[in-house]
Amino acid sequence: MKIARFEYQDQLAYGIFDEDADVYVRLAGDPLYAGIETIDERIPAADVRLLAPVIPRSKVVAFGRNYSEHAREMGNEVATEPLMFLKPNTSIIGPGHPIRLPRQSQHVEHEVELAVVIGSVARHVPAADAHQVIFGYTVANDVTARDLQKSDGQWSRAKGFDSFCPLGPYIETEFDPASGGIGAKVNGEVRQVGDLNQMERTVGQLIEYASSVFTLLPGDILLTGTPAGVGPLTDGDEVTCAVEGIGTLSNPVTGD
Ligand code: MG
Repeated sequence: MKIARFEYQDQLAYGIFDEDADVYVRLAGDPLYAGIETIDERIPAADVRLLAPVIPRSKVVAFGRNYSEHAREMGNEVATEPLMFLKPNTSIIGPGHPIRLPRQSQHVEHEVELAVVIGSVARHVPAADAHQVIFGYTVANDVTARDLQKSDGQWSRAKGFDSFCPLGPYIETEFDPASGGIGAKVNGEVRQVGDLNQMERTVGQLIEYASSVFTLLPGDILLTGTPAGVGPLTDGDEVTCAVEGIGTLSNPVTGD
């Protein structure tokens, strides 16, 4: 099922998307903490403003260079150890919300990624058991100030600006991340094309690695790396990220 978080009649609400009827079946509360309990209310999709499907209370754990073609286009090899970093939860925005280009950077790029939403407390989880701690999947854009990523030497600033983690449009709870198309367009022009089967490390392996370092909490997000084709974003652009079987995430780009 597809679970959305949205604004409806000036209130924060959650719903299961019924695509055929184009309505949301309202949930009693936040499905990550209150369980998936529907109430008898159907909300037309046209009447909601989608928000990021989850704002982690704790962290966004991201992985770099997990697609070899992208690693090579950046002049890197796939690391022997997973390359892990954090993005602050304040970088998250929802579908349609603007990515703001910060004054400190002259070169901001898009990175479409499969995002994993953690559903339960996870510590030292073997890859084979990772499915037990996954709530679902969504689409992310790991927006990156490429110039600052290089000049800073570490990535907190380059990947941590407000609005640098668009997320959405909803969480798909039944999804197999083993394969499927992943891509990004800018102003309708194809920029990134890949397949989830090109990931060097599987979602399970990434959860095993991350959970051996941090305790993962419900609502935490894992970003699983980006395929080849990253490129610049400029004021006035519209960037669209998609994962086949989950959905499409579009955001306008504006100056700061
Ligand atoms: Mg990335």
